[in-house]
Amino acid sequence: MTKPIIIRELPANKVKQLLADKKFARFKPEACNQCGEKRGFMRRIFKITGVTKAKQGDDETQRLLQFHFKQRYAIDFIFFRTHGQQFFVDSAVCDSCQSTAVTYDIEIDDEVLAKIAEYTGRSKAQVKSGLEMVYQRLQDYTR
Ligand SMILES: [Zn+2]
Repeated sequence: MTKPIIIRELPANKVKQLLADKKFARFKPEACNQCGEKRGFMRRIFKITGVTKAKQGDDETQRLLQFHFKQRYAIDFIFFRTHGQQFFVDSAVCDSCQSTAVTYDIEIDDEVLAKIAEYTGRSKAQVKSGLEMVYQRLQDYTR
């Protein structure tokens, strides 16, 4: 018998608490796919229980959850997050057009730079200038 999957939306105070944690808040809404708005997103975060750690990254599990969120909550884009020992689904609603197709991005702060430097064996300065070059090229590319 497998345990049932339980999905609970976090109340506003819990969302606020989670977003006060830099490690969680770093990955955040970046732009609305519908209207292009870059600020003013309402976060909806759900706690998922009953999915084992090994299954959390599973394509099938994620597809199932995606389908469920689309059907049950009419949320188009969801992001799977693990934080501490917990498993969450993170989503955002655009204030301007109410779309839930909101893309996320990771904020590259000093701590993230240090991690990338550690993983790639480069200095933080090298990583930073490399990223800046990529951003510059992407801007030229999308212009
Ligand atoms: Zn929008």
